[in-house]
Amino acid sequence: MPILPAPITNLSTALERLPGIGPKSASRLTFFLLRSPEEISRQLADALLVLKSSTALCKTCFNITSSSQEICDVCANPKRATGCICVVEEPLDVIAIESTAAFNGRYHVLNGVLSPIEGIGPEHLRIRELLERLRTEPVTEIILATNPSMEGDATALYLKQQLSQLGIHITRLARGLPAGGDLEYADQITLLRALSGRQEM
Ligand SMILES: [Zn+2]
Repeated sequence: MPILPAPITNLSTALERLPGIGPKSASRLTFFLLRSPEEISRQLADALLVLKSSTALCKTCFNITSSSQEICDVCANPKRATGCICVVEEPLDVIAIESTAAFNGRYHVLNGVLSPIEGIGPEHLRIRELLERLRTEPVTEIILATNPSMEGDATALYLKQQLSQLGIHITRLARGLPAGGDLEYADQITLLRALSGRQEM
């Protein structure tokens, strides 16, 4: 005999599938919604329903855009430099780089990284589309901004090999010490990368 009615366990089970939500958080959220005014649940349900149907991928850079727009706001902005493309793994990486306000070029979102274990090869990423863009856009620099992980590094290396014949300047984000960090607490790899990525001052 289940202790809780099915509508409660159904919602808890659905919430548990979300990243970062364990069984306890899922129950807490479920009971919060149960106690809250119906309006809160309705707004959440409405937002979830239109999430997929109202968004699309930008036809040029594959960033997330509203389904009413063929291209995203960055690609549509004539003030953004056309000569430099920053290649990232996910749309969230675009938001992170945009928040620095230090980059005025355009993006290309791979929507993943190479991962032989998960069966993700170059054909699953937007690499062919990137090569197509380079044939038509006047690009002089590509910044490989994939994550500093094993998969991110492997993807950057693969892209470098693919792009090396095109005569385009290829750079990789410098990896260094976190702001406010202390040298003595940095791990060996971070310190090694900070040293090899040192800049003129
Ligand atoms: Zn775009």
